[in-house]
Amino acid sequence: AKANGGSGMRVYTPDLGTQNAERFEMEKGLHKALEREQFRLVFQPQIALGTGAVYGAEALVRWESEDRVIPPCEFIPLAEDTGLVVPIGLWVLRQACAEARRWADAGMAELVVSVNLSAQQLETNDFPATVRKVLEETGVAPNRLCLEITEYSAVQNLDRCIKLLKELTDIGVIIAIDDFGTGQSPLVLLKRFPVQTIKIDPSFVRDMSEDSGGEAIVRAVIAMSHSLGLTVTAEGVETEEQLEILHRMECDRIQGYYTGRPMASDAFVAYYRGVASG
Ligand code: C2E
Ligand code: CA
Ligand code: CA
Ligand code: CA
Repeated sequence: AKANGGSGMRVYTPDLGTQNAERFEMEKGLHKALEREQFRLVFQPQIALGTGAVYGAEALVRWESEDRVIPPCEFIPLAEDTGLVVPIGLWVLRQACAEARRWADAGMAELVVSVNLSAQQLETNDFPATVRKVLEETGVAPNRLCLEITEYSAVQNLDRCIKLLKELTDIGVIIAIDDFGTGQSPLVLLKRFPVQTIKIDPSFVRDMSEDSGGEAIVRAVIAMSHSLGLTVTAEGVETEEQLEILHRMECDRIQGYYTGRPMASDAFVAYYRGVASG
């Protein structure tokens, strides 16, 4: 039972054995997917609440395997475990910037594209230099790119993270804290992060409609963010009621199924033109 070189624990339970086999298959699949560029981005609109204008879109990755489209929740965790999230993330960054460039060329130069960043990516060798290079290659202005990091990943190695974020904001890109409110970090930490935007997690937005104090929490987060000079995007907005509450609270932007599901880049261009022409 020691056949696994000390980590023999794995082989004792049949369930884990099956899981490992599945994970191994999926890991092989991910390598192949990278080689063959089987990934695809979809874009979810972000709307400015004050004006109703399209602010930009968040790029979300999909894996088009041979037999189905696999959502990120099914492969990003494994990609994190295996380090594959670094090359996948680089592909996403390049691709998202290439689309932003196409939007700019089509007369939509003010749009901001948001890209999810895993902690590992941030910690790869000189990530800020990689970002600078991708921006140069694609000809995208730095302030048209927003990088989303989760609160959790940010506090793992606080000082280093702050230094890297500082370098990124010096380049001119926008930094957003994703899934805000779901992590363990104390609010005072926010003051130390060189970030411009907070994304309120959908769980809080959902609670707003239920008289459960959720509304008070969202109002407090918005007020606090504004007093720190940060803008706020509320995520997971699914109803007109939620939109109206957030509008009254002077939330800056919303993103959710109510204003638009994730869509292909071409569909997003059409969406933008539809909104712009009223
Ligand atoms: P996230 O960054 O919090 O992205 C928002 C997720 O919420 C997306 O799921 C989106 O489709 C979904 N969503 C948007 N509006 C609504 C709504 O109104 N209601 C509900 N119920 N859901 C909504 P998706 O695309 O499945 O992505 C899931 C997560 O996978 C993302 O969460 C992000 O953490 C991760 N992810 C996606 N793309 C990438 C990527 O390129 N790199 C990395 N590292 N992670 C990614
Ligand atoms: Ca995100
Ligand atoms: Ca989020
Ligand atoms: Ca997330």
